[in-house]
Amino acid sequence: MSRYKLLKLLSLAMLVSISMGCTGFGIVTTPINNYDFSYNQEIVFCTYKTKEVSKERVDSLMAEIADEYSEYNIVVRHEWNKTIERTGSNSELFRYVTAKKLTAPCDRRLVFLNYTLYDNLLALLGIDVLGAVETETMTNGYIFANYGLSINQLLLPPQHVVRHESLHLLGCEHDIDKSNCYEQIAGLRNQNSEDFFPGYSAATREYLLTRENVNNQLRKYRRTSPISLEVSSKKY
Ligand SMILES: [Zn+2]
Repeated sequence: MSRYKLLKLLSLAMLVSISMGCTGFGIVTTPINNYDFSYNQEIVFCTYKTKEVSKERVDSLMAEIADEYSEYNIVVRHEWNKTIERTGSNSELFRYVTAKKLTAPCDRRLVFLNYTLYDNLLALLGIDVLGAVETETMTNGYIFANYGLSINQLLLPPQHVVRHESLHLLGCEHDIDKSNCYEQIAGLRNQNSEDFFPGYSAATREYLLTRENVNNQLRKYRRTSPISLEVSSKKY
């Protein structure tokens, strides 16, 4: 791996939330009943997978998300899954997805990845990101859906990681008090947005009420970022 590639990988890792070493969302100080999750709301997921990840695997991990969200009366609709073949690193694949516009009916995008030889080597070197959600809009994420040469996966299997990242996709950040996550989810649910389940930017501390807001935020980020999110489509 070239030094440039390693630097690019590390740059991205700093901009996302990393499951490895995550402190989690904390302990509950205010019971969930104190928040209003009484009516159903729908959230639409659009997903990508690399070809090594089976459809059954995607379905079972999506079921984990549906179960996690049922606590908040949020119903998951899995709109589509596209298989993408990659030639670059997983970070590049993620950048490829976030460089695309978020379009209706998708509210969130999640990429299911497999470990390649390259990722296994990185994991053995201790660079082992099990999943991530970008902090600019918290609407895009990826997780490793299959197992690799990862010590961290013994403690944090994909079923755990997908639930963890799914809470980031609802605007929750690492905290010592889980009640802040409840508050964040209740806040998102209460936003007035017509055909979009709102997002939250951890970078600007603002709600994103339309897909256009999300796309603008991602575009701004690409302009100011020292790394480019654009990846040549020829690769895919
Ligand atoms: Zn996290």
